[in-house]
Amino acid sequence: MDEFRADLHCHSSFSDGTLTPFELVDLSKKNGLKGLSITDHDTFEGYLALTKNTPSLDLVVLPGVELSCTQDEQDVHILGYSFDPDSLFFQDFCSLHRKQRIERNKIILEKLKKYDMIVDESDFMKNDTQSYGRPHIAQVLVKKGYVKSIQEAFKKYIGEGKPCYEKGQKWDVQEGIDAIHKARGLAVIAHPHFINRRRIIKQLLELPFDGIEVYYSRFSYSEHDKWQKIAREKNLAMTGGSDFHGSIKPGIQLGCSYTNEETFLILKNHFFEVAPTYAKKFQNA
Ligand code: AMP
Ligand code: FE
Ligand code: FE
Ligand code: ZN
Repeated sequence: MDEFRADLHCHSSFSDGTLTPFELVDLSKKNGLKGLSITDHDTFEGYLALTKNTPSLDLVVLPGVELSCTQDEQDVHILGYSFDPDSLFFQDFCSLHRKQRIERNKIILEKLKKYDMIVDESDFMKNDTQSYGRPHIAQVLVKKGYVKSIQEAFKKYIGEGKPCYEKGQKWDVQEGIDAIHKARGLAVIAHPHFINRRRIIKQLLELPFDGIEVYYSRFSYSEHDKWQKIAREKNLAMTGGSDFHGSIKPGIQLGCSYTNEETFLILKNHFFEVAPTYAKKFQNA
């Protein structure tokens, strides 16, 4: 029998991914996945779109979101899962952060102007997208010929520490966790492998997280080992996902990193308790 795989980290066209939620569902099935969570930046509208127009789903889809937070000046991403999709509090929380993103993008565009790179919001703010970020700006920089690739845009101008980078307003990690918990969801530290300051890791492990993203596309088994040990010690759920974004971030396949059946069931059962009406939409899977 095929191994059970659930990809719990990917982005749709509702944020900075290139595939629609429906296309992600199709690709998940094609790639043999049994579970999926779309973790768009600061929005779960993609999940709501799926549930409003349920295609014959033989795949369990859990609501998810990725929040960009800070801990002592360090950027830390948090994944939220299995929360109540009807939580008005959480919808507003995400919506406020999307507005802050728009303000942050304006500052980035001003900085780019100083380097004679003219980009207007209207160049990328269109379609179904709800949450805009640097990849959208990078795409326009490529399209206008200012840089050759998205990677170059990040490396030279808009990556962290580069001249046109702007941090923007971010939640503290504790605020992010609290918001997810208030919506009755589970809070998971995203790709901890990127955090190389030990003090920050120590601080994060003292916060009330429910899980840690042990399996992540860009890392080898030996690094997974380290995070598995930490997760066991702290009794945290060990999730995994690819961080697939589609063609905007080439080289990563949907499902290349994944969550196993045991952990997926914890998240799925939690969701059945929190929002049975939504959960039942996928119960035939
Ligand atoms: P933002 O949410 O606006 O801070 O942008 C963060 C997103 O930019 C990440 O989720 C990635 O999709 C993308 N990103 C970050 N760094 C890079 C990079 N060096 N090259 C390409 N994409 C990147
Ligand atoms: Fe992204
Ligand atoms: Fe992230
Ligand atoms: Zn991500």
